Amino acid sequence: MDLSKLNPPQREAVVTLEGPLLVLAGAGSGKTRVITHRIVHLLNERPGLIMARNILAVTFTNKAATEMKERLVHMAGPRAQGVLVCTFHAFGAEMLREDIHRLGWPKKFAIADMGDQLANIRRAMREHKIDDRSFDARKVLNLISKAKNSGKAPEPKPEGIGDDYDLITHMVYPDYQLSLKAQGSVDFDDLLLLPARLLREHPDLYEKYTKRFRYLLVDEFQDTNTAQLELLKLLAGRSRNVCAVGDDDQCIYSWRGAEVRNILDFDRLFPGGKEVRLEQNYRSVQTVLDAANAVIAKNPERKAKQMWTDRTGGTKVKVVTCPNDEEEARFVAHEIQKHMALGISADDIAVLYRTNGQSRPIEETLREKNIGYEVVGGSEFFDRREVKDVIAYFKVIVNKLDEISLLRIVNVPSRGIGDVTMERLNVHARGEGVTLWTVMKKATDYEDLPPGAGARVMDFVDLVERYRAAYEHGQLANVTRKLLEEIGFREATRAHATSATAADKKLKGVDGVLNSLENFEKREGPKASLPTYLNRLSLDTRQEEEEVPGANRRVTLMTVHASKGLEYRLVFFIGMEEDLMPHGGMQGEAQNLEEERRLCYVGITRAKEVLYLTRAATRVKRGKEVPRTPSRFLEDLPPEVIEVVELDAPRQGPPTTEEKNFFANLKERFKKPAIPGTPPGGTGPSGGAAR
Ligand code: ATP
Ligand code: MG
Repeated sequence: MDLSKLNPPQREAVVTLEGPLLVLAGAGSGKTRVITHRIVHLLNERPGLIMARNILAVTFTNKAATEMKERLVHMAGPRAQGVLVCTFHAFGAEMLREDIHRLGWPKKFAIADMGDQLANIRRAMREHKIDDRSFDARKVLNLISKAKNSGKAPEPKPEGIGDDYDLITHMVYPDYQLSLKAQGSVDFDDLLLLPARLLREHPDLYEKYTKRFRYLLVDEFQDTNTAQLELLKLLAGRSRNVCAVGDDDQCIYSWRGAEVRNILDFDRLFPGGKEVRLEQNYRSVQTVLDAANAVIAKNPERKAKQMWTDRTGGTKVKVVTCPNDEEEARFVAHEIQKHMALGISADDIAVLYRTNGQSRPIEETLREKNIGYEVVGGSEFFDRREVKDVIAYFKVIVNKLDEISLLRIVNVPSRGIGDVTMERLNVHARGEGVTLWTVMKKATDYEDLPPGAGARVMDFVDLVERYRAAYEHGQLANVTRKLLEEIGFREATRAHATSATAADKKLKGVDGVLNSLENFEKREGPKASLPTYLNRLSLDTRQEEEEVPGANRRVTLMTVHASKGLEYRLVFFIGMEEDLMPHGGMQGEAQNLEEERRLCYVGITRAKEVLYLTRAATRVKRGKEVPRTPSRFLEDLPPEVIEVVELDAPRQGPPTTEEKNFFANLKERFKKPAIPGTPPGGTGPSGGAAR
């Protein structure tokens, strides 16, 4: 490998093979590059001693993992195939696939999705006579998840301390865990906790895993949570070869339990190591970097970083005010079209936003203009009823203990197995102390079922068993086609749809599943099995990614959260308004405001060459047009690196005084450009472009 493609501190990080190593550096400084090069160096340096299978690289998303793996194979050839590159959760799932039976789960465990989790919570709440209409099960689930991510179970609170939800969470938690286990399932958080338990409680497994994974590398270390850190510490217990890279300014997942302390305290967590700082930014032009630095500089309590770039100059960052959100979308689409005409490829372009809801107007205008796009994180697809039904079939076929999925599809499409039948069977199961599936297998033995129901249940059992056997031989998509045909899924869907177009839309969902199965089979080859597909699916949707079949050169639409680690030549960061960026309801709390600022920094630093920060003067909220205040972060931008653009479409209502002052201020500052020859307050080439 050519070490000359690295700068001196990067090289130092790459050639340091033993002991803990922290690379703490700002955005675009080549941290992720250090990880890939270090892996290749490990493979090259001690052939025969360090094998690909000894290396584990942890990324933040599955997408990042796939990309890193591809790079590795590109750089080091096929032997890099053996390096395990995945997220913490995928790694946990991998460990559990091998050894979860040691904790009493079935080997083919399932990963519960949000729907399964909520169903279990509600069931537990009902058992405690807690009304699930007065108390929000989602909130309870959140509290449970938070506790698990911080590495501990919800603890009993002393009398009188904590609110109702704390109390409910405490009551429901043990039942929730038990029912998951009884269903042979784990939740997303268990993918971190159970592997740690395996390592802690089973010395032979500790031996096995620490011997195998002797070189650990973690990207985006600033966003690890306590449960992940715990797992990492256990894995590194013997070798101590942990290389972590990250940027405290990019910690944006504290709402999901990320602990920025983990990176700040690295030398205490992994003593005796080395720390490397990187200062050159290779990604962005000067103007973008200046904007980013100015925004993040306002955060107190950060490890100060000096960042510079030799990509001096660059076009100014465009700060664009649009009359409303529809106009904002039109402006963005128009500028995209313009840049594509100038030769920028669609996959070099991203539109970033704070909340998922902001993508809709953008999607509509892009569709109008026939510009291909991909929404990262639109989990809508898997929320569709038909898709959920098909997936529930898979889950039951893989795991007959999964009663939630079983109850979902036992009568879908309708096959004359009603609620009464299932309730009676459930009573029998409880009475006999066996699973629902066990009594279903002998349903004709029970005389209290409606006439003929027993036989119909047995037919269903037979169907599931037959397909369980059929799936053993791969051919996932084909077997699924047969299954759907046998149960008349398409006809039933069509019959229940309100119109032909509604039916088409629903059936598209079914085709989407078949597509995704085919892609999965192509990717995995002979390793493709239904259980791994299900695991991958739950990991992927949780990581907020979705595969959209179709063309491969598309504009990317995603939340700023999802954009971490990525880079694009042209970036639109939309909705630069109070209440969105920083996000509403968070302004009061200083800590959240700091995180919002970091988020803003992450968004800005995705741009390599051209950055647009857009905002709408008004937005429609609940049918009413409300005026919007510009984001406070815009005020922090150095006037000499921005260009203010105001679109002059007819606006609804006069600007607020606040707005006027803000832009007077911005323009005032802009009157003294650092780069001579720029028109003050100029609308530039893009002014009024949306019309
Ligand atoms: P982030 O904090 O956003 O994750 P990062 O620190 O991981 O950023 P990278 O994505 O690794 O940064 O690198 C940013 C860009 O700079 C990439 O395009 C990378 O190829 C390039 N780059 C990094 N180091 C060098 C180098 N020494 N020479 C040339 N290009 C480099
Ligand atoms: Mg990176």
